[in-house]
Amino acid sequence: MKSILLEILKIYVRMCSYLHVYTFGLFLNYSEEHKKFLLSGFTCANCKEFLIKKILVADVIVYDENEKEILMLQANKKGKKFSCPRCKHKWEFKKY
Ligand SMILES: [Zn+2]
Repeated sequence: MKSILLEILKIYVRMCSYLHVYTFGLFLNYSEEHKKFLLSGFTCANCKEFLIKKILVADVIVYDENEKEILMLQANKKGKKFSCPRCKHKWEFKKY
């Protein structure tokens, strides 16, 4: 039962991600890898872990330009890189 719910959640997240990428994504200028992350339904490109917290936000670590960890809320303004909390795989957030 639990795994069925998880599958439904993954599909739901993937759908929302598509909308997000093709609406906001265009002018927020996400990097190719970050778009792939969103389009994969928040799965890490390296370890394939499904990175969503119970409250439906991405479970990733956000870094600013000095490689300092910042809050998810600051990601759009200051975020430079994201990383997977499990395997530490890091990717660029936006194109510069
Ligand atoms: Zn990972």
